[in-house]
Amino acid sequence: MTDIIQLLPDHVANQIAAGEVVQRPASVVKELLENAIDAGSTEIKLIIKDAGKTLVQVIDNGKGMSVTDARLSFERHATSKIKSAEDLFQINTKGFRGEALASIAAIAHVELKTKRPEDELGTAIVIEGSKVKSQDVSVTPTGTSVAVKNLFFNIPARRNFLKSDTVELRHITDEFHRVALAHPNIAFMFYHNGSELFHLPQENYRQRVVHIFGNKTNEKLVPVEEDTEVLKISGFVGKPEYSKKTRSEQFFFVNQRFIKSPYLNHAIGAAFEGLLKTGYHPSYFLNLTVDPKTIDINIHPTKTEIKFDDEHTLYAILRSAVKHSLGQFNIAPVLDFEHQSSFNTPYSYKDKAGKAPTIEVDRSFNPFSEDTQTHKSGTSGFSKVKKAPAAHWESLYVGLESKENNSGNDFSEVTFESDPETAKMFDDTHVESRKPTFQLQQKYIVSTLKSGMLIIDQNRAHQRVLYENFLKHVTIKEATSQQLLFPLQLHFTPNETKIIKDLKSELEYTGFVFSEANEKEITITGVPVGVPDSEVSIILEQLISDVENDVPDANFSASDLLAKSMAKSLAIKTGQTLNQMEQEHLINSLFACKEPNMSPANKPTFITMSADDIETKFL
Ligand code: ADP
Ligand code: MG
Repeated sequence: MTDIIQLLPDHVANQIAAGEVVQRPASVVKELLENAIDAGSTEIKLIIKDAGKTLVQVIDNGKGMSVTDARLSFERHATSKIKSAEDLFQINTKGFRGEALASIAAIAHVELKTKRPEDELGTAIVIEGSKVKSQDVSVTPTGTSVAVKNLFFNIPARRNFLKSDTVELRHITDEFHRVALAHPNIAFMFYHNGSELFHLPQENYRQRVVHIFGNKTNEKLVPVEEDTEVLKISGFVGKPEYSKKTRSEQFFFVNQRFIKSPYLNHAIGAAFEGLLKTGYHPSYFLNLTVDPKTIDINIHPTKTEIKFDDEHTLYAILRSAVKHSLGQFNIAPVLDFEHQSSFNTPYSYKDKAGKAPTIEVDRSFNPFSEDTQTHKSGTSGFSKVKKAPAAHWESLYVGLESKENNSGNDFSEVTFESDPETAKMFDDTHVESRKPTFQLQQKYIVSTLKSGMLIIDQNRAHQRVLYENFLKHVTIKEATSQQLLFPLQLHFTPNETKIIKDLKSELEYTGFVFSEANEKEITITGVPVGVPDSEVSIILEQLISDVENDVPDANFSASDLLAKSMAKSLAIKTGQTLNQMEQEHLINSLFACKEPNMSPANKPTFITMSADDIETKFL
């Protein structure tokens, strides 16, 4: 028998290797971005078409390549980053295996353009399925551009295996996040099908995190800093109350490389013990720096797993550092000190100029007159009650109609007529509401009434205000929406996605704009005015759990449930400090509601204590 073993030709070997390195467009993105970083670039552009299926291009301003290096870079095991086996334990670059470009060129059409700063002219190379099609001298800026087209053109099975554009783009975005987070000192731009998805300037780490995950992330972050002999930690964990049902905000970087480590993840979980609801995961963005000698990166082709020499020590240090930070920032939800200084109403009332309260006195008003019609603002005995405070708060409160728009709307009168008790209370409150109010235990607002004392539950009261507001939008089927700078992609289980889809039109009437949805992801491009991006997932998660827990019966109304749920998510919480204006504003808004005395969940929003009640206490 003749010998049967033969060496595979290079292009076949490359294709096999490619199977390991390149699973999907996102893998190409990762490899090209990493090469750009290794080249010392300060600005990197990522350009994608059709979720990378048609084009993945990375343009950098790094050190470029010589003519020979440009050609060699596509050879397998061709690398400038290590020279000997010892170097494997001193790795300071992202790449070192010299496989990426060779693998990519084996399964796609690749166009490379590169120029070193010291050269006048650069080099352009075109390679298709490992075959060099052309090599030319080229006029090109300093740096390197690698365009990868028609990925898997010669492996139809792999190409067919690719998921929808949404899914592939999600993978690319994940890779982009990881690389961009690890290198805040590099500017990144990311375009998909001609539109800019990210524009990240050179910035510090906190700014980078906030830039990627939205402005509201800023107040979620608790810094973690630790410097020991074996491990340096810097970065942030999210406050427990912002924990998520998904693991989408969990990032470990070891020596600026994103890694997955269930073991270290566990250390964080241990530090958060007792602070999280079941099924919720903490957010973290942590940079670990260790001596490169103490880790082995070369255990996985995509290098997302690494081996630490002394995992146990790292675990202990990490856990205690995170625990310490959480403790220091006193993360109990009711004592959120950071919130106090930056009180955040979901309506843009903060930006409005304060308005000195004015008291309008109707000099012709005669309390003994039977004829209430003579009251100048009233068309009925009850509407006057509604009118006066409306005039007072309309300029402050964005979103609720003033009385002017409301006139002719009969339910306000119906409500008051059917509930004279409320009307009386309201009248009373209105007259007295300019008296100083104060906040009790960051939970209640206390004010005076003619007849005694008024105690308002701030959370329930605000829920009522928001609930009526949302309900109104849903009912009249119109809302103003604010477009998001970066579309939000949220992950859900298929079941959860279905719930959201079923409520889609109601959600849209409140101001949400959905661009895409598939089984597990929903992309949101617009949110109701005044709703911060960071609240969106909280609102939807709350909504899902409300729907799941609410056995739909005959009275089930999707819009009502939605309005309740959103009000619950966005209302001022117990524990939030309110200043004088905010307190007054809330009181006025509450009593401008149709049913001020009950929260959407039918719990009292306020109680009163008459002077007599108080007196009996002193007996
Ligand atoms: P590795 O990154 O593991 O070295 P690659 O196949 O990704 O292997 O790249 C091969 C070589 O090509 C690199 O070692 C580097 O010298 C060169 N190279 C690749 N991309 C760039 C780039 N954007 N700028 C400069 N040189 C690059
Ligand atoms: Mg590389």
